[in-house]
Amino acid sequence: MGGAGEGVRVVFLGPPGSGKGTQAQLLAGDLELPAISTGDMLREAVANGSELGRRVRKIMESGELVGDDLMAEVVGERLSHADTERGFLLDGYPRTASQAETLLRILVEGSDTLDHVVFIDVPEDELVRRALLRQRVDDREDVVRERLRVYRERTQPLVEYYRSQGLLREIDGNREVEAVRRAILDALGVDA
Ligand code: AMP
Repeated sequence: MGGAGEGVRVVFLGPPGSGKGTQAQLLAGDLELPAISTGDMLREAVANGSELGRRVRKIMESGELVGDDLMAEVVGERLSHADTERGFLLDGYPRTASQAETLLRILVEGSDTLDHVVFIDVPEDELVRRALLRQRVDDREDVVRERLRVYRERTQPLVEYYRSQGLLREIDGNREVEAVRRAILDALGVDA
């Protein structure tokens, strides 16, 4: 798998609250690859009060997306680290058509290819219910609904884009964590 080197490169796609972050972490443990969450990276930057954090804080609080150019810098830098050489699990990126192009460019430059796009689908009612159970500051109901709207408008089109490339692995995310985990391992052909 992969291009020049061996390795597994996976994107996790799904609405906010679908559990993709949890599943990316679990699979990272199984495959011994880094799970890279752009949301976590940005939250950390905000917590540290870094220059990046100052630029993204308000956007994140509103449920909107950080600009594609800034995200390209963040992701390009992260994917240049040596720990991604054997692959990575990307959670929360790409979220727009332009970001998908950026990721493709980064991969091509490294003679690598994307192996799987794990799409975790969950009905919207369940997403709202889950979000309101969580404690995060950006989980106020109006923000939750805004994030879902942004997802439908900007990110959902990537499902068809990756399906047309034969990369989409569709997973029913409306189940227990462990059942979702097994379905993902199955879809990726991993023995665990
Ligand atoms: P997440 O934890 O993935 O839901 O991300 C939390 C917030 O960080 C999002 O609502 C966006 O404001 C921002 N964010 C994370 N990843 C991206 C991305 N790929 N593009 C733009 N904004 C992002």
